[in-house]
Amino acid sequence: MEDIWDVIVIGGGPAGLSAALMLGRAGRRTLVLDAGQPRNRFAAHMHGVLGNEGTPPADLLARGRTEAAGYGVAFADDTVEKVDVTDSTVAVATTGSGIWVARALIVATGLTDDLPEIPGLAQQWGRRVLHCPYCHGWEVRDQRLGVLAMPPMGLHQAELVRQWSAHLVVFTAALGPLDAEAERRLRARGVELISEPVVEIADDGECLAVRTADGRSVPVDAVFTGGTPRPHDGFLAHLGLARTDTSLGSFLAVDPAGRTSNERIWAVGNVVNPTGNVPLSIGAGAMTGGAVNGALVTEDFDTALQEQRR
Ligand SMILES: Cc1cc2nc3c(=O)[nH]c(=O)nc-3n(C[C@H](O)[C@H](O)[C@H](O)COP(=O)(O)OP(=O)(O)OC[C@H]3O[C@@H](n4cnc5c(N)ncnc54)[C@H](O)[C@@H]3O)c2cc1C
Repeated sequence: MEDIWDVIVIGGGPAGLSAALMLGRAGRRTLVLDAGQPRNRFAAHMHGVLGNEGTPPADLLARGRTEAAGYGVAFADDTVEKVDVTDSTVAVATTGSGIWVARALIVATGLTDDLPEIPGLAQQWGRRVLHCPYCHGWEVRDQRLGVLAMPPMGLHQAELVRQWSAHLVVFTAALGPLDAEAERRLRARGVELISEPVVEIADDGECLAVRTADGRSVPVDAVFTGGTPRPHDGFLAHLGLARTDTSLGSFLAVDPAGRTSNERIWAVGNVVNPTGNVPLSIGAGAMTGGAVNGALVTEDFDTALQEQRR
């Protein structure tokens, strides 16, 4: 039993660290395996995070590691390749440090934003190409903003961004022809619509130049758009866990505490909820950490009772 952790957490972002903190404080032997590529690493500062307004993302995670380590949580910088399950344990194979075994597993591996393939866009991601106005809208309020509208949330994003600036141009080509009512609705609040495809987002020093197929160049201070979320759950694929289809893609199905269809595997944060920001991921991680400890508490009593009866 010495070599068996109570819980392995895969992913040391806000969700995973929050779960690990709860487990450490419950006296659970907990190991966090982390590849060190949090989703918001492209941004210099985080916003909308109470008590951490404007903090660099890496600083929050470094503090979170220190806090969890203070309760005995262990860390390994490593990438998980595969997970196997038995009746009573979960075996986690990594690229660097070998195989680790635990009674329970929390998957908090986040996601990759697969960005629209437009030259110049990826280089500005998290800087002047943004996805979430709650995270970065204040910093560009009242400036010249663009929305590169992508399905399925493009029109919703366009309406939302209008709250931060009246100088808004929406590039609609990826949505196909808009119906007349959708156009009227956006124009009613002074939004400019451009249906020509965007072919480049160029850095013009002071601002961005959004270039369209007809040769036009539209100056904006920032562009909002949406990537396609790709959850980091491929290392579980062979287990055939239940999934749920949403308008944003296919995700592991979990109950409100994060338990998957396997009773020893939980999943939390962006890997199952792509719209969760940092505070929501921290909150969900705390709930899942508590739920996993609760499941182990129940198992500890069940085992003790069985041994007593023997
Ligand atoms: C550009 C940008 C800016 C953002 N700004 C804000 C903001 O200002 N405020 C805000 O509240 N939210 C912001 N967000 C959202 C925020 O990034 C997410 O809410 C948050 O990162 C989700 O936390 P998480 O723990 O679920 O995943 P992540 O933070 O992505 O952490 C997942 C961790 O798991 C690791 N991992 C993945 N696969 C493996 C594997 N196989 N083995 C081991 N480790 C693995 C990753 O390397 C990573 O370290 C922003 C997002 C983006 C894209």
